[in-house]
Amino acid sequence: MKKATILFIVSMLCSGIAFAQLKPRPDAFPSEPENLEKRGITMATTVDEMASWDRYPTYDTYLTMMARWAETFPTLCHVDTIGTSIQGRLILSMYIETESAANGPEFFYSSTIHGDEVTGYVMMLRLIDTLLTSYGISPELTDLMNRTRISINPLANPDGTYHNSDTTIRGAQRENADGIDLNRNFPNPFFPAKTTIPQENQAMIDYFTEHRFRLSANLHGGAEVMNYPWDSFTSRDNPHPEAEWWIDVCKRFVDTSRTYNNSHFRDTYTCGYTAGGDWYVISGGRQDYVNAVHNCLEMTMEISTQKTLNSDRLPEYWHFLAPSFINYIAEIHNLPESAEITPARDHELTLGPNPTTGIITVSGAESATIELRDLQGRTILTQEASQSNTLDISHLNSGIYFLRIDGKTIKIIKL
Ligand SMILES: [Zn+2]
Repeated sequence: MKKATILFIVSMLCSGIAFAQLKPRPDAFPSEPENLEKRGITMATTVDEMASWDRYPTYDTYLTMMARWAETFPTLCHVDTIGTSIQGRLILSMYIETESAANGPEFFYSSTIHGDEVTGYVMMLRLIDTLLTSYGISPELTDLMNRTRISINPLANPDGTYHNSDTTIRGAQRENADGIDLNRNFPNPFFPAKTTIPQENQAMIDYFTEHRFRLSANLHGGAEVMNYPWDSFTSRDNPHPEAEWWIDVCKRFVDTSRTYNNSHFRDTYTCGYTAGGDWYVISGGRQDYVNAVHNCLEMTMEISTQKTLNSDRLPEYWHFLAPSFINYIAEIHNLPESAEITPARDHELTLGPNPTTGIITVSGAESATIELRDLQGRTILTQEASQSNTLDISHLNSGIYFLRIDGKTIKIIKL
């Protein structure tokens, strides 16, 4: 084979174009349940049995772990109840906030929205333990925690994970108790439609609304690949405005993990990362909703080829992932400029309706011009500002636009 041809194939592999249509997304619907009969899964029925981090906790052990950390480190953390599942299980997050971090940016990790993708569940529990027990001991982690508020939700779909019983993850399922795939049923910000929001997702939406997370990640399994937005489009059709920043972040994550174990993040793309839609376009995922509506940069981390990892391999995965997990939190102090977007509710300007079908009224503007840009940063229209302005965008396609006024940026959703 000619050298040029080889180079072309290598570059296509990394750009994600070559196999975008050929390779099925392991994480895609319909789910492919793994045969867990022969899988080595050991459960921890007490907190002490989690000491080596090579078991999965029973539901009660999980609740006890969360409660015990909150009791042991009352000045560092508390447990947030994001909501409850259909079957009444708790959707919890450990909110870690040191006194020095009171005004620091808010970071969010969330795992196992697909109930059978459980590697991240134990990774996040171990991350909570590592952060809390390292404060005041590890200079690096202490500094990070002194500058950052960190919320960690280890289990977003408890009914899926404990589908059979609270005492085992054997029989875990992807969907919630109603058989709904939670990561396909967030509101679609680009193509709004009337949908019923599942209870677990509504709780998550409320949690994002109460907080002001600026960087987050949603952890999955079934592949090893970092998946940055958008999931709703290919990067050719509609690249994320911060695609270059995302690629840098993905490279740092993958390269760091490979210095600890060079065999990982290779099953889907040789480079270990992709724009979500180049792998497979989906609708209703959490990542795009959070990016578009909550001004939070969120990516999807597919962290283990097996959805339900043999429990004795959990320490191996922690070993190569932990440094990258911690570095990713620190990326919150390295956000791109556009992450400074001011939500309309924090602004003295009034603007509405938003979302809109066409006519937007803006009042309280001080600057001379109003400018509307699309997702690629192209200026769509400019208009002289006065005390009360009417903007007609009824001719524009449905989607997301940014209105720049008074040095601030306001996200507009056109229905
Ligand atoms: Zn998944």
